[in-house]
Amino acid sequence: MQSISEIYPLLASPKKVVITMHQKPDGDAMGSTLGLYHFLVQFEHTVNVISPTNWADFLNWMPGVKNVLDYERQTVAADKLIEEADWIFCLDFNTLIRTKRMEEKLSNARGLRILIDHHQEPQADKFAYGVSDTSKSSTCEMVYDLIEASGHDDKINTAVAECLYTGVMTDTGSFRFPSTTASVHGMVANLKSKGFEHSKIHEHLYDNFLENRFRFIGNVLMNRMEVFYEYNTALISIPQNDLIKYNITTGDTEGLVNYPLSIKGIKLAAIIIDRGEERKSSFRSKDGFDVNTFARKYFNGGGHFNAAGGQNKEPLEEVVRMFLKAMKENKEQLSNYEF
Ligand code: 5GP
Ligand code: MN
Repeated sequence: MQSISEIYPLLASPKKVVITMHQKPDGDAMGSTLGLYHFLVQFEHTVNVISPTNWADFLNWMPGVKNVLDYERQTVAADKLIEEADWIFCLDFNTLIRTKRMEEKLSNARGLRILIDHHQEPQADKFAYGVSDTSKSSTCEMVYDLIEASGHDDKINTAVAECLYTGVMTDTGSFRFPSTTASVHGMVANLKSKGFEHSKIHEHLYDNFLENRFRFIGNVLMNRMEVFYEYNTALISIPQNDLIKYNITTGDTEGLVNYPLSIKGIKLAAIIIDRGEERKSSFRSKDGFDVNTFARKYFNGGGHFNAAGGQNKEPLEEVVRMFLKAMKENKEQLSNYEF
């Protein structure tokens, strides 16, 4: 993988560009891809954004989101765009399998794959150009860095600013995680100076839920959460019936794992959701517990040091058993905790 800076001189010549992201995109995946989209269309490129799957309703206010293709629903059109693309930007994921059913098409594409990502252990040999930096708060910050380093600060318009702010805000937990560096605040200051209303973005993302989600959360916290104090660990496991009963859709479960993490003394929080086709897990940790390694070792997953996820084909009860076993195996690291 050559440095992303090699493409800066090539930005000016028109190309067919596809931008894609990980499945079930979050604010950073959608923000970074659309931010890059609004930047690149200001050159003469033909640019299309493809998501491997659908996404949460709370992202549907974003500028340009109406033109994003959902690979599962628009496979034929998306396949054609991937086949014809000169450049395929891969944002906010480290391994092609994170694009689910798109993996094979991306692997076989004739265009150059370009990585922009902040997850650990990227498949560097799959990309012609790229940048991978786990110290970055968000992929949005990395798209911002690309725009600045290529000398195009003047191309940051309101749409670019709104999209990039969305991802940096969501991936930093509204600017509270340790990844929120001085450079992040510097970036936000510059984006603000381009003129956009940041409080509107917080409203779009966090004050836009339906009542059913809160009834569902009430049930989860009351009936689906277990705390293992001797391991400083809490687990939420959600059967598929709950999702059906409360009419839960993509995005409604996002952030739920943070509730148990905010219990005093909890060092590892986990949520396992039976999505029917698979059991999806999310892990969050505080301090020195590495959930990236934990997710990789036990749950076919990965992510970051303090936020990771995985997926399993086994039934929910079995995945819960696997979690409890894994927790016990890590007792030494989990129980040595100073409050
Ligand atoms: P979340 O728990 O919010 O789905 O994901 C937390 C972090 O872990 C994100 O950075 C996400 O990209 C990563 N992640 C989530 N699920 C998986 C997975 O199944 N495999 C890998 N490699 N990373 C994941
Ligand atoms: Mn991200």
